[in-house]
Amino acid sequence: MSSPQAATNEPRRYQLFIGGEWVDAESGKTFTTPNPATGAPLAEVAEADKADVERAVAAARQAFEGKWSKLSARDRGRLLYKLAQLIEAHAKELAALETADNGKPIRESSYIDLPQVVENFEYFAGFATKIEGETIPVPGQFFNYTLREPLGVCGQIIPWNFPLLMAAWKLAPALAAGNTVVLKPAEQTPVTALELGKLIQEAGFPEGVVNIVPGYGETAGAALAAHPGIDKIAFTGSTEVGKLIARAAADNLTKVSLELGGKAPNIVFADADLEQAVNGALMGIFYNQGQVCCAGSRIFLEERIKDEFLERFKAKAEKIKVGDPADKTTQMGPQVSEEQLNRIKGYVDIARQEGASVLTGGASPELDEQFRGGYFFRPTIFCDVNNRMRVAQEEIFGPVSSVITFTDEVDLIKQANETIYGLSAGIWTRDITRAHRFAREVKAGVVWINTYNMFNAASPFGGYKQSGYGREMGRHAIELYTQIKSVWVDLSGKPIGWFGN
Ligand code: ADP
Repeated sequence: MSSPQAATNEPRRYQLFIGGEWVDAESGKTFTTPNPATGAPLAEVAEADKADVERAVAAARQAFEGKWSKLSARDRGRLLYKLAQLIEAHAKELAALETADNGKPIRESSYIDLPQVVENFEYFAGFATKIEGETIPVPGQFFNYTLREPLGVCGQIIPWNFPLLMAAWKLAPALAAGNTVVLKPAEQTPVTALELGKLIQEAGFPEGVVNIVPGYGETAGAALAAHPGIDKIAFTGSTEVGKLIARAAADNLTKVSLELGGKAPNIVFADADLEQAVNGALMGIFYNQGQVCCAGSRIFLEERIKDEFLERFKAKAEKIKVGDPADKTTQMGPQVSEEQLNRIKGYVDIARQEGASVLTGGASPELDEQFRGGYFFRPTIFCDVNNRMRVAQEEIFGPVSSVITFTDEVDLIKQANETIYGLSAGIWTRDITRAHRFAREVKAGVVWINTYNMFNAASPFGGYKQSGYGREMGRHAIELYTQIKSVWVDLSGKPIGWFGN
């Protein structure tokens, strides 16, 4: 089992990856992950729970204390680079599997997800040899320096919206810094993380450095977060579950980093290039079926361009090709699960009750027979929204935008910040002074000016407020996976005089 299986119609089978071996769950249980475009089973996966997490943590500890910490930084980097190359060589099959498991259009998994996965492993492969301590100019006859050391065993719990990319964001810096990992993929989308396990084996990582335990959040996830044998827990997912993780971690004072929900303002001023802003608004809310924590889900329009903007926005939203995600021309696939689809439908009812109107969408599309069991939803725009409505305050995690109008910049910034979240924000204007003023005043971890959803492995990503803490990617990710030791040396060679004479 050294390369990804090609996507076929037969349900695939996967085991857990623990201590360098593929094993069944101790309970013998399995679960099924469906293809969200059809509802048909895609794979049968071993279901990890507490006992398996226990084994995986023990394997990761043994690897950390053993072979992994003896390896040079250069060798760690080489392994990561080898992994990046293997992923690149198998990118086509991995993209097809990502689409089959998650439902995202193949053009996204092929041209966005997979290239970014490779980029992250490459970037952090190069970082392994650049993790350094510092010398501190302390007074007197002392030499003081710091060592930047790995934390140890890291638990990593990831979501289903970018299954392989989230695995890359978490694994690459953790491994570059010399940690070992127990990774729990989301139960909706375990397939590509397990395929990655095969490539990790093929690249030659020592056994137990990466362990992969697919399973449910309340069982496998909760057991990992509460485990006293891990040194860090990293989580990406909902704010609600993020709070549970932080509470579980508090009992052992496990270090935590959290990348949580968002309700980003995407703001269009009248002086913006309207065509660009409309395209940016589409990208902000309909990319990945709107299942993006930094989705531009609150669109703030300056009152005097409202009609023109909405006319264009609606026309383009209605032209989005929704359907078979495996078709290269498809622009939106199904939502990940029936549960998510129902959640979105629930918000359409809430919006109506709150007095918002549906400009377009608000229902599932009519599709061919083959896709009737899929979880599709049309691109949806709510108008007549005010910032206090639930549809403007709660994360819907679907292709649903809430449009709010404004006339005054000061009031706009106040509204943009009136949310529990603070992950990202977008602004469209030709006025550079205003754009940078906004960048300073908005309480968000990422700001996009005249663009949206831009990412790079070198640029930090993470939230303000209840969108979490810690920054992934860039050198900040290395900080998340290392700790500092301060070392003092007396250079005088003389006895300490204070009590000694
Ligand atoms: P969503 O609500 O969008 O499905 P979640 O935040 O529930 O997102 O899930 C993100 C990840 O967190 C998944 O891997 C899921 O299994 C895991 N998870 C869910 N509940 C818990 C929990 N109580 N403890 C630990 N992990 C959990």
